[in-house]
Amino acid sequence: MTPVLFEKVAFIGLGLIGSSLARVIHAKKLAKLVVASTRSEKTLEDAKALGLIEAGYTDAIEAVKGADLVVLALPVRATAHILSTIQPYLNANVILTDVGSTKANVVEAAKAVFGEALPEGFVPGHPIAGSENTGVHAGKADLFAHHKVILTPLETSAPWAVAKLTQLWKAADAEVICMDVQKHDEVLAHTSHLPHLMAFNLVEQLASREDNLDIFRYAAGGFRDFSRIAASDPQMWHDIFFSNKKSILDAVDGFDAQLKVIRRIIEQDDSQALMGLLEHAQAARQHFNHMLTKKTVMENVSVTQKFTILPKDHQFKGTFSIPGDKSVSHRSIMFGAIAEGTTRVTGFLEGEDALATLQSFKDMGVKIEGPENGHVTIHGVGMSGLKAPEKALYMGNSGTSMRLLSGMLAAQQFDTVMTGDASLSKRPMERIAKPLRLMGAQIQTTGEKGTPPVSITGKQNLKGIQYDLPMASAQVKSGILLAGLWAEGETSVTEPEPTRDHTERMLRAFGYEVKTEGNRISLVGGGKLVGTNIQVPSDISSAAFFMVGAAICKDSDVTLEAVGINPTRTGVIEILKQMGADITVLNERIAGGEPIADIRIRGTQTLKGIHIPEDQVPLAIDEFPALFVAASCAEGQTVLTGAAELRVKESDRIQVMADGLQAMGIQCEPTPDGIVIEGKGKTGNWDPIFKGAEIQSHHDHRIAMSFSIAGLRASEAITIHGTETVATSFPTFTQLTNEAGFSIQTLD
Ligand code: NAP
Repeated sequence: MTPVLFEKVAFIGLGLIGSSLARVIHAKKLAKLVVASTRSEKTLEDAKALGLIEAGYTDAIEAVKGADLVVLALPVRATAHILSTIQPYLNANVILTDVGSTKANVVEAAKAVFGEALPEGFVPGHPIAGSENTGVHAGKADLFAHHKVILTPLETSAPWAVAKLTQLWKAADAEVICMDVQKHDEVLAHTSHLPHLMAFNLVEQLASREDNLDIFRYAAGGFRDFSRIAASDPQMWHDIFFSNKKSILDAVDGFDAQLKVIRRIIEQDDSQALMGLLEHAQAARQHFNHMLTKKTVMENVSVTQKFTILPKDHQFKGTFSIPGDKSVSHRSIMFGAIAEGTTRVTGFLEGEDALATLQSFKDMGVKIEGPENGHVTIHGVGMSGLKAPEKALYMGNSGTSMRLLSGMLAAQQFDTVMTGDASLSKRPMERIAKPLRLMGAQIQTTGEKGTPPVSITGKQNLKGIQYDLPMASAQVKSGILLAGLWAEGETSVTEPEPTRDHTERMLRAFGYEVKTEGNRISLVGGGKLVGTNIQVPSDISSAAFFMVGAAICKDSDVTLEAVGINPTRTGVIEILKQMGADITVLNERIAGGEPIADIRIRGTQTLKGIHIPEDQVPLAIDEFPALFVAASCAEGQTVLTGAAELRVKESDRIQVMADGLQAMGIQCEPTPDGIVIEGKGKTGNWDPIFKGAEIQSHHDHRIAMSFSIAGLRASEAITIHGTETVATSFPTFTQLTNEAGFSIQTLD
């Protein structure tokens, strides 16, 4: 049972929301005394009759005297007037909160009354629960149960006040999350304010027609569902639309642009595009449903939105087991699924990308147990056992899943559509679609840039091709080879530079013959894969953050165990060695067809800037964001060329890194295919290199982790936004950095 939290609670406004919270306080005995002030005496009398309050006042001043919690639960536009009225009568240590649907204007109103030095007990809030009913009788004690309550603490808000309010809302069985004010208003503009605006507007549009009676009389479920919220209180929504004007207008513009897209598609009878759009929306909606009901495995990953690193004497020491390799994890599921017999995987990376692959194969009828502590068991269905998924396959953020699966799905007997999140939806897919079409596949990408959704028409007889890869891309190579498993004759890919060969190695581990002759890789279609056991090595791309961290931190000493050192991936070790890092590769051995080793790296000397050899670029392609941080700490200039590929990763990694580094005081110049970084390091000097900054990671996990590592050499606080995607590849990142003595604070 929750203890008594407050001596006296005063509600200003006691309608749906206020009275629901009062019901919780009353039922759980959270306060010794509850009072309220409303406009009408009737509300106060009713509230007393309902047993919600001990006393009621039409004068708010009387209500707040002596209160240790004041809750503003009235229309947001009334906030300024009420605050100026009650301000002189508030207790010094009062917690002052509100439940308003917009936040920036509430903060503005408070500043107008209190000045910039807001009371430390002032913590704005917003329960994401409600209904179209209003008034004291509409309230319910369980209104907030299993709903979110957003608190938007300010810089002036005291942690004790936030903690106590959190306790209060938790007692209402709500889930409390913290967000900044601006973010709150932007998010709510899209998720709540825009839908309400559309509902009001649609009803208005139909009500203004002459045949409106018929329309309403024969209205089917769709109209009823969509228009339900147009029955909400006009005064409240009038206030909200004006209070959050800027964000709402942005959301309306976005809606307007999207409306034009679908209008054009219908006008032009573009069936392919319409199916693509509808299926993408349906898959996204189902994904959100899954997320909300926590039904699929993808939802077990806890997400954070923001990292903060404070300047301290951080340490970076210890022996660590980095999570499993993402590339190998993906392939273990894909190949296990189409193999005959059972495949047992250990060390599987339980990150969102690999889980997206796992979910896709479940959607295609493959029985998969786990993951549980990195263990997955896949009951393979053989080369012709995959079944048509009921809906579009959702690949989340994972380019690997989409490109490799394009090859596999092009050869199936059924049609499929693959969709992804906003970031994946911007990534180029024609590079895999083109060679697959040469093999006879029917595959369609979307829009001028050839991006997802990708639609594939099955039942095509594929033929082997000899393909010269125009770019060094392991994903494209793998997609073609995987289609080749079902194609007639030989399929070969010749690559301009060697890229990761996990596909080749693992196909061999599953008993499929793959030839590698120089840069030419080939296989003959029509064979079969046999289930096997796969130990996924630790991911060298994730290990790279720890390597760079150790290389730039004085007296660091880090050992990373059982890291995959596939020669197509070790560019980061070679480049760091050339920069003068103290790095040793120990206990080299083989596991599941892949070479692994322990890697020890120490912070004993200042790195040196280098011109990165172009032949190392494909071997370190994912590690460059981290290497740019190393280059910033090096003495002298580092030049990267031949890495245009970096611009089409989860984000434009050249531009996004340049923007962040410049914000942190590093001189650097992005070029079309690389970057020039002026390192600020000086031999033997371990002073901070970076100044404080707010960094946008653009929801790119590797960008987020790279800037986190820079925090080891920062003179001021660094905050990195959009860090939730770190879970896609390195779910234990902050846990392990904290264990190493480098503390990263996470905030939802
Ligand atoms: P409600 O049921 O209409 O209750 C509003 C209360 O505020 C009433 O007690 C009313 O007094 C009082 N009030 C109205 N104007 C006032 C003024 N100018 N000065 C003093 N008191 C005034 O509204 P609600 O749904 O509880 O909404 C309250 C707040 O919660 C709003 O800021 C809204 O944005 C927010 N919110 C609402 C929902 C929702 O779904 N409804 C969800 C989340 C947040 P009388 O009783 O005397 O009329």
